[in-house]
Amino acid sequence: MRKKLAAGNWKMNGSLAALDEIKALASVTDGSVEVLICPPAPLVHAACAAAPETVAIGGQDCHAKDSGAHTGDTAAAMLADVGASHVILGHSERREDHDEHDEDVRAKCNAAWDAGLTAIVCVGESLSQREAQNTLDIIGGQLAGSVPDGATGHNLVIAYEPIWAIGTGKVPTTDQIGEVHDFIRARLERRFGAGVGRSTRILYGGSVKPSNANEIFAVSNVDGALVGGASLKASDFGAIISALQ
Ligand code: PEP
Repeated sequence: MRKKLAAGNWKMNGSLAALDEIKALASVTDGSVEVLICPPAPLVHAACAAAPETVAIGGQDCHAKDSGAHTGDTAAAMLADVGASHVILGHSERREDHDEHDEDVRAKCNAAWDAGLTAIVCVGESLSQREAQNTLDIIGGQLAGSVPDGATGHNLVIAYEPIWAIGTGKVPTTDQIGEVHDFIRARLERRFGAGVGRSTRILYGGSVKPSNANEIFAVSNVDGALVGGASLKASDFGAIISALQ
């Protein structure tokens, strides 16, 4: 069975003082669901020290290379060294702000795996791609291009994040979410075999809130959520975790 995963992406938000929000999750996590917070890089080390046992910590990106002249970047092994267990890769904000393409995400994913991290690879269509009825083609292409060979049920998580739903308050219908998650599951099974395909978690991301979490988590092949804004406060994220437990 796939263990559900509630993953929080703090993006460029947070501070040392805000790590209290991670500590506060201790009272809502019962261990039945995996809980992950991905703070900005400067906070990862302190977050690992502050987090209760039931909360894992991850990065929001890593470089494809192990080390070297890459000012401002973070190697996957550095995240692992300070205690992170996961890294988000190919988030649409990275794809847009840093011109990241599938081949970059794929290289980063290999680096993450070499460092022993679980990669959360994000895929998702824009509004114009959805309106042009290209959603499944886009998702299929991103999956094929961004995920390297060598996936296991443990080292890979896919996050389906329609770009038009991120931070907008707009959420796809449950039918739309289900269609894409079923498609991703089928693609994973076809490429990696039934064992890996069925054990890989597929998260939904895009304006998940306490008020819509139950409905989204009832959709087939939704194994949890990647949550942005609503992961910043323990009260909101705790309610989303409770909806999964
Ligand atoms: C995200 O950034 O991954 C995200 C889903 O953001 P939000 O929940 O704020 O839409």
